[in-house]
Amino acid sequence: MSTATPAPPMIKAAAVNKHFGDLHVLKDIDFEVPKGQVVVILGPSGSGKSTLCRAINRLEPIDSGEIRIDGKPLPAEGKALAALRADVGMVFQQFNLFAHKTILENVTLGPTKVRRVSAEEARKTAMELLDRVGIANQAQKYPAQLSGGQQQRAAIARALAMRPKVMLFDEPTSALDPEMVQEVLDTMTELADDGMTMLVVTHEMGFARRAAHRVVFMADGEIVEDTTPDEFFTAPKSERAKDFLGKIL
Ligand code: ADP
Ligand code: MG
Repeated sequence: MSTATPAPPMIKAAAVNKHFGDLHVLKDIDFEVPKGQVVVILGPSGSGKSTLCRAINRLEPIDSGEIRIDGKPLPAEGKALAALRADVGMVFQQFNLFAHKTILENVTLGPTKVRRVSAEEARKTAMELLDRVGIANQAQKYPAQLSGGQQQRAAIARALAMRPKVMLFDEPTSALDPEMVQEVLDTMTELADDGMTMLVVTHEMGFARRAAHRVVFMADGEIVEDTTPDEFFTAPKSERAKDFLGKIL
């Protein structure tokens, strides 16, 4: 009866190349994040993980190859690009909250300005999301009045307020004091359990083992391994992965 084609992956990168001057930072990158999967990117510093994340929502142009989000090629500019960015939530190492706006305002700003949601609706959704990440009681405060862990959870709520199809996290816990890392990882784990599609760059191996469906290991701009967490941590194939794990575990 139905001749439904399979759903496209949420993120698909095909033969992506990127240079910074003479430096070849992304070398023929091919990978997919299927809907509902959590993919963790691991790799040494300088291997191109952040550049790949930035390329995925076009904060960074690529030299060749193609990136598709939910089956659609990345638009170069204009309204289509704004819409794509709204589909891809991004959380960085630095929380990047607006310092002169309250936590609630930080979360309602995008939906009212970009998604054209009414102020009342945006407020209601924002309070639900702040509750979900455990900081509803901080809504009227300014970012500087919150701990780093609370600020990062606010940044996650802000990204979720845009109703993204996929969430990218680039070392979301690297700037946090150690005692705050777990609360942010717990928030991310809950999001994963709810079925959110996620691409996560992290050095938190516990999170990778527990939450990831797949581990993508990058080194020198290449994807060296793309496998299950179990396989990666117990039987890494490449010397570079063995070397990396030897240093980090
Ligand atoms: P990772 O996130 O894995 O640490 P990055 O993607 O940040 O790696 O960087 C990959 C390489 O590209 C590094 O050698 C870095 O110094 C270089 N690089 C990153 N951004 C720029 C830039 N805007 N201009 C020039 N070189 C850059
Ligand atoms: Mg990085």
